[in-house]
Amino acid sequence: MEADKFMLTVSDLVQYHYCPRKVYFLKVMGVPTVQRKTIIPIEIKYSDFVAAYRGRKKQLTAYAMLLESKYGKKVRKGILYFPEQNEQIEVEISEEDKKYVLRDLEKIRAMIKSERMPGKVEESKCKYCEVAKYCV
Ligand code: SF4
Repeated sequence: MEADKFMLTVSDLVQYHYCPRKVYFLKVMGVPTVQRKTIIPIEIKYSDFVAAYRGRKKQLTAYAMLLESKYGKKVRKGILYFPEQNEQIEVEISEEDKKYVLRDLEKIRAMIKSERMPGKVEESKCKYCEVAKYCV
C-alpha cells in the first residue's frame, strides 16, 4: 500500500545512514522484504559478479536463522539483489542449510579453541584478502 512506504523503522534509519540508495531500492523501487507474511532476508550486493556463491548463500542462511529466532517464523528463502545490474537471485534455504551453518559455527569455534592454523585456500582468493600480509 502507498502509505506503507512512509512508515519508517529503526532499520530504515540505519540503512539510510549506511547508504541512502538502500532505502531508495527498498521503499521506492519496492524491492521486497516481506511477501504475504513471509519473512525474506535481502542482501544487497554491489559486485560485478551476479551469482549465488556458497558464501553468499551461507550469509543469507545465517540471516534467515536470526530472523527465525527473532520472529518465531520459518524462513525458507532469501534474495540476493544486485542494484548495479538491477538483478536479483532468489535463494532457497533448507533446514539442511541451517544445520550446515550451525556445523560451520562449531568448526570455527573449535579452530579458535585449538589455536591451530588451517591450510591455505586457492590463491585466487588471496588477492582480495585483508590479512594477506600476515599470511605466509
Ligand atoms: S592470504 Fe588470506 S585468503 Fe589467502 S590463504 Fe592467507 S588468509 Fe587465506
